[in-house]
Amino acid sequence: MMYYSTNRKAPLATLEEAVVKGLAGDRGLYMPEKIKRLPQEFYDNIADMSFHEIAIKVADAFFGEDIEHTALENIVCDTLAFDCPVVKVTDSIYSLELFHGPTLAFKDVGARFMARLLQYFIKKENKSEVNVLVATSGDTGSAVANGFLGVEGIHVYVLYPKGKVSKIQESQFTTLGSNITAIEVDGVFDDCQRLVKSAFMDEELNRHMNLTSANSINVARFLPQSFYYFNAYARMKKLGLADNLVICVPSGNFGNITAALFGHEMGLPVRRFIAANNANDIFFKYLHTGEYKPMPSIQTIANAMDVGDPSNFARIYDLYNGSYEKIKSMISGATYNDSQIREIMKQCYDKNGYVLDPHGACGYQALKDLLKEGETGVFCETAHPAKFKETVENAINAKIEIPSRLAEFMKGTKKSVNMTSSFSDFKAFLMEK
Ligand SMILES: *Cc1c(COP(=O)(O)O)cnc(C)c1O
Repeated sequence: MMYYSTNRKAPLATLEEAVVKGLAGDRGLYMPEKIKRLPQEFYDNIADMSFHEIAIKVADAFFGEDIEHTALENIVCDTLAFDCPVVKVTDSIYSLELFHGPTLAFKDVGARFMARLLQYFIKKENKSEVNVLVATSGDTGSAVANGFLGVEGIHVYVLYPKGKVSKIQESQFTTLGSNITAIEVDGVFDDCQRLVKSAFMDEELNRHMNLTSANSINVARFLPQSFYYFNAYARMKKLGLADNLVICVPSGNFGNITAALFGHEMGLPVRRFIAANNANDIFFKYLHTGEYKPMPSIQTIANAMDVGDPSNFARIYDLYNGSYEKIKSMISGATYNDSQIREIMKQCYDKNGYVLDPHGACGYQALKDLLKEGETGVFCETAHPAKFKETVENAINAKIEIPSRLAEFMKGTKKSVNMTSSFSDFKAFLMEK
């Protein structure tokens, strides 16, 4: 299958090219040329299939033309080494828990899939080592580093701003060792991003080593996120609650919800979708006015959704041929500020005994506010509340437990390379590798 750019000015790319490049040459986002509908029989039997069986069918529709079946099966099963269960919160609201992976957030699924897909291409073509450069302000670095940890043939360099990420976040990519190198940059996040961008543009460096990014817009990170929506549908169907299903996704760059919309194009019987935002309400405003106006992002307690110009809007727009009417008929919006988010976490804990993280809180409340009579809602709980321990504990006025895998990171020994924010220093470091 070939991939085209949403800007339609770059040549079509193979899956491998799309994965290695990330962003198309015309700065557009790659889209698969076709989205295959899965047969009715699949939906008839889905409630009795396992998560792995379901994910393999979905993966085959996207990647089956480009990857041998057994290899794809292995990549899918290896990626999904943890469950994404659906948990009851109220009679009509269920939580799709996406935090059971190694770094306790949904980005683990995409990062793990991309790592294994890249490894497949490296092996198949006997390529020498590939180097992934990633700049992070916290969460992306941990998902990518852990997703690629121990994957042969790939080395990851995580650049992060010294003293500007939380201790928990830092421990998730500085204590791993193996094929992960953490680089502590004397500067801010923008410096890290500049160093990475300059490296991709430097010809001498690119002759010296294979460089690639693991950006969240990468098709190999974004498409696999559709797997868990099919699984959620299956689990709800088993409970007899899938007839009028509404999926609600706490959204920042809108990659996660776009994967759900792709699922719908493949025939997933979901009635409608809700994009829940924090105070960064660009998409919410678009739904109300028809005008898409990017804004500088606002800092909130649901910080992984602090995005002022959601990159995957281009994919949603392309998917529905730019039709505002169509987009509005498929997706509703909601927006919550920090004090509302705190109140939601408290209410939900007091009434239902369920602990939400600040991102999931937006999703839960959007269902409470927008669900109609006879509908059942599933929202994504995108991160474990313990990742935002202080914020959550202060809001719900109770202590929460830190899962052992998170505690393990914090016990590890930090190892990092100190770096100035000058590109010549960074380049010299990489040229020695
Ligand atoms: C990245 C992230 C989001 C936003 O997902 P998008 O795909 O960017 O919309 C929401 N919650 C958490 C915890 C995240 O890490």
